[in-house]
Amino acid sequence: MNLAARLLLLVPLVSLVAATLVLIPVPTPVLGPAVGGSLAPAAHAWPVDPHDQRWTPTPESPTAEGYAVPVRRRVTYSVTTRGGISTPLAVFRRQAQETYDDPRGWRTAGVQFRRVPRGGSFTLVLAAANVVESFSSGCSAQWSCRVGRFVIINQERWKHASPAWNAARGSLRDYRHMVVNHETGHWLGRGHASCPAGGGRAPVMMQQSKGTGGCRLNPWPLGWEAAAVRGR
Ligand SMILES: [Zn+2]
Repeated sequence: MNLAARLLLLVPLVSLVAATLVLIPVPTPVLGPAVGGSLAPAAHAWPVDPHDQRWTPTPESPTAEGYAVPVRRRVTYSVTTRGGISTPLAVFRRQAQETYDDPRGWRTAGVQFRRVPRGGSFTLVLAAANVVESFSSGCSAQWSCRVGRFVIINQERWKHASPAWNAARGSLRDYRHMVVNHETGHWLGRGHASCPAGGGRAPVMMQQSKGTGGCRLNPWPLGWEAAAVRGR
């Protein structure tokens, strides 16, 4: 058999192999995980603290958004400023919303926060330190405060955290989470808490800006703090 004849015999074989290849369901491994992925916990959508044992994503518990707790209460808020502001307001707005959206925050109590252009259920204020006292004699130029519908974040604390927080080597981002959660926690009806005997993570309603006693810095509501808000 000459070479041309051998090649002719190979043609049907090559065609068969090609047809077989076409029949192999190539898209399956690509589509499979993508479909399943929408049901899986969005474990990397938020910076989850590996030490936080409270929020444990499981395949069956999260909603499509990745939250373990369904929304029970929807609140709206607007953002405003008082006094001379020397820090970017856009960053303040964005980071406050990040705190509210985080599954470790009051969202874990079933509270969903949505920013509106004006009005809303409460007003989140970024205030220059020297005007914080104008809200109430119970407020001080040194700290953040909550008065009625006003959740007031002291600009100096927003920019620099606090001496005690910095001495304990807390990060500025965590301080911002803590102060927004703490003052908003007052608006949600929570009073101050203290470090329990035995230590552990500080309650978010502890005045951690001033120190944590024997507790560790913690920007997020503890399980019992969230449960108290959830039960209201
Ligand atoms: Zn307080």
